[in-house]
Amino acid sequence: MDRMRIGTAAEEAAAQARAMERLRIRFSGQDPSYHITTLGCQMNAHDSEKLAGILQTIGFHEEAEEQADLVVYNTCCVRENAELKVYGRLGYLKGYKRRNPDKRIVLCGCMMQEDVVIDKIRTSYPWVDLVFGTHNLYRFAELLEEMYNEKGQLIDIWQEAGEIVEDLPTLRKNSFKASVNIMFGCNNFCTYCIVPYVRGRERSRKPDDILAEIRELAASGVREIELLGQNVNSYGKGLDEPVSFAWLLYRVSEIPGIDRIRFMTSHPKDLSDELISAMRDCPKVCPHFHLPLQSGSSRLLGRMNRHYDKEQYLALVDKLRAAVPEIALTTDIIVGFPGETEEDFNETLDVVRRVRFDNAFTFIYSRRVGTPAASYPDQIPEAEAKAHFDRLLEVLAEGMNERNSRLIGRTLMVLAESTNSHDDRMLTGRSEGNYLVHFEGTPDQIGQIVPVEIDCQKTYYLIGHPVSEGKNSLHG
Ligand code: SF4
Repeated sequence: MDRMRIGTAAEEAAAQARAMERLRIRFSGQDPSYHITTLGCQMNAHDSEKLAGILQTIGFHEEAEEQADLVVYNTCCVRENAELKVYGRLGYLKGYKRRNPDKRIVLCGCMMQEDVVIDKIRTSYPWVDLVFGTHNLYRFAELLEEMYNEKGQLIDIWQEAGEIVEDLPTLRKNSFKASVNIMFGCNNFCTYCIVPYVRGRERSRKPDDILAEIRELAASGVREIELLGQNVNSYGKGLDEPVSFAWLLYRVSEIPGIDRIRFMTSHPKDLSDELISAMRDCPKVCPHFHLPLQSGSSRLLGRMNRHYDKEQYLALVDKLRAAVPEIALTTDIIVGFPGETEEDFNETLDVVRRVRFDNAFTFIYSRRVGTPAASYPDQIPEAEAKAHFDRLLEVLAEGMNERNSRLIGRTLMVLAESTNSHDDRMLTGRSEGNYLVHFEGTPDQIGQIVPVEIDCQKTYYLIGHPVSEGKNSLHG
């Protein structure tokens, strides 16, 4: 088959539908099963919903990994440990396959876009049946068909993306909230990051396709939407008729049935006044902004190729808080970046103390082959990076405890997402400010937005009890 055949998006979608139908007939009466393991970010989690949707359309049902006929790993390569996890599991899967030779093993996602990984899979993991990357995920049905028709390992990695193929079947994890891709890829090339090399250049979906998808979701009962992109702030730049991300937010806000709009991830260099105004003016846009800092040292931000400095970042924080006073701010921070001095690290702590983030994803720098920073000579010893990491968590916790304690006695509107994993008399959900809240409730409230009065706070979550709306409410 001509692997790199790239028809129009509509032709590709039609070809996939035909392949799904052929496979459905092939497997009818056999009740085949699958298991998908997803590593990495929300983008990957949403890609796995598409893989599951395709398999369900063919007639597969979900099953535990050991019993499943088809095992899929949707991989991540942002940090080394995500890759080590996959190699670790492949050893297990070899045992499963020895006991059941008909079992099929599939690897996809960002890690598979790395040449070194493909060489390793080819030479050391011959029991893996199918390998594909991020640019041809939509072709999963045709690749499955070829895998079942042919003998031997099938590897299909594209070096660049084709058109965005719409209308793939998607099996969503939740019926009340949904992730929606608005763009793919990244053009920023931060020196520590492998994403631009594995997800390609920025491509925005057409606004009409996004709005149509969200209308459909609203009609099916979805109340909360999360708009996804590696850098949503540059949404729309490459379209034939360019629009801005703020423009899209206003349009999504007009869709009836959607109560809450979230988005992930923003790059500070592209955070516009127009977007800040949209945060202020669109009541459905949740008062939560994830603004990755990475480092507080302007010197390191330069070496990271982040295109902003400490002062510019702090000014953006002030602008956001002036426009939306109760906004919750979260961030990403890397410690141990090559060349990081005590002085650089203290700059990071200074920003953390001044901003008092509501939460943060914190990482020790992970050397990624192929990125510029990987060949910087002044790599930081692990022990030193770990010491910085521990101190950072302490200082972050001070700010988070202070921020959380102001919520005690206030009522937050919480979207109940699940039964609490430790206590089934409790529910777990997220407030508009994306605070994690545990509260007394019953499973029939899952999917509902419940007013919860906060009784106490912990660093990473809040505990409360349901009340009637209006009592001391806070859109937080
Ligand atoms: S903005 Fe930077 S950190 Fe984020 S995905 Fe793009 S290159 Fe990576």
